[in-house]
Amino acid sequence: MTTQPNDGLNYLDLYPRMREKLNQCFACQRLGLKPDLPRFPAQGSLRHYFPEMSLNGDGLCEQCEDSIRAKLL
Ligand SMILES: [Zn+2]
Repeated sequence: MTTQPNDGLNYLDLYPRMREKLNQCFACQRLGLKPDLPRFPAQGSLRHYFPEMSLNGDGLCEQCEDSIRAKLL
């Protein structure tokens, strides 16, 4: 299951190089803008489709980290 809006993926089809500005969660495959990027052109539209998402050291987004931790505890 993915929560990624299709128009965001269409955007990446049009501008594949933008993918390097994104983090992808290892578990849920969700995409999000890497935090603390220097400003770059088209940042606004990219941010619109892909809100900032940080990954932990294992490549997991916060949601997945939380749900995995909840299962382990
Ligand atoms: Zn995730």
